[in-house]
Amino acid sequence: MKLVGIDLGGTGIKAGACDETGRILDSKSIPTGLGDGPEAVLDRMAQLARDLGADKRVGVGSPGLIDHANGRVLESPNLLTMQGVPMRREIARRLGFAERDVILENDANCAAFGEQWCGAGKGESDMLLVTLGTGVGGGLVLAGKLYGGPGGMAGEIGHVCIDPDGPPCGCGRRGCVEQFASATAAIRRAKDKGLPRAKPGDLVQLSRLAREADGPERALLHDIGRDLGRGLGMVVCLLDLRTYVIGGGFGAATDVLEAGIRVGLRDRSYGDRLQSVRILPAQLGSDAGWIGAARLALS
Ligand SMILES: [Zn+2]
Repeated sequence: MKLVGIDLGGTGIKAGACDETGRILDSKSIPTGLGDGPEAVLDRMAQLARDLGADKRVGVGSPGLIDHANGRVLESPNLLTMQGVPMRREIARRLGFAERDVILENDANCAAFGEQWCGAGKGESDMLLVTLGTGVGGGLVLAGKLYGGPGGMAGEIGHVCIDPDGPPCGCGRRGCVEQFASATAAIRRAKDKGLPRAKPGDLVQLSRLAREADGPERALLHDIGRDLGRGLGMVVCLLDLRTYVIGGGFGAATDVLEAGIRVGLRDRSYGDRLQSVRILPAQLGSDAGWIGAARLALS
């Protein structure tokens, strides 16, 4: 059985086909070309699905708040062109599918579902995916099922507040995790400290230096990890969740963030359970989104 998933992004569309165990059969990516308008983007998405052999169903991941009742993206700052477009209906029409056979879901939720299926969270029935990119995204899997809540907003760890007096956030409030631990925040924090010394703001170099020596780079990543861990500590208190998969571009630094994350977890939660908390780097990279979307086509 062939499953096809599409991951729509602001700059690129990634899509692929896998079998019912998540084994990758084929994948492709093309520029989104938002400037060409929503019709052109929908055409490209449908063409990708066709090229990959979707013949009955397809899963689609998109950034933003998803209106499940009407199959559209309600609100997405990075994808304004597609806001309000009846994506599910339009893709179904282009492919000749019934509308119910196009499954639309938030992209971070798809990535979480992908990682839990055949990535870092494989074998875990409960996990939170945290993506450290431009912002901090999250996706929650509970009892082996994607849990989005009524509006698909569950798992939004990026907007858990860890400091009510902290820096302002894009969501209109202050001191959200995103303002401390996203890749963007990490670049800002590194530059503020003039780190890494050779090339301020270079996260790859910052992580490498932190790995190599116990210097100011390691101290900064420890602080960033601690701030993320404080947010995760609230999840531990609320759900007793033990598995945290860290992805996104800055997720590559999980190994050097982990010590700080554990300090933050201890700051904001308690008990022996902290010893069994697992902090794992994501494994599927940029394939996680389409793989999770493809899995949605299975269920
Ligand atoms: Zn926020």
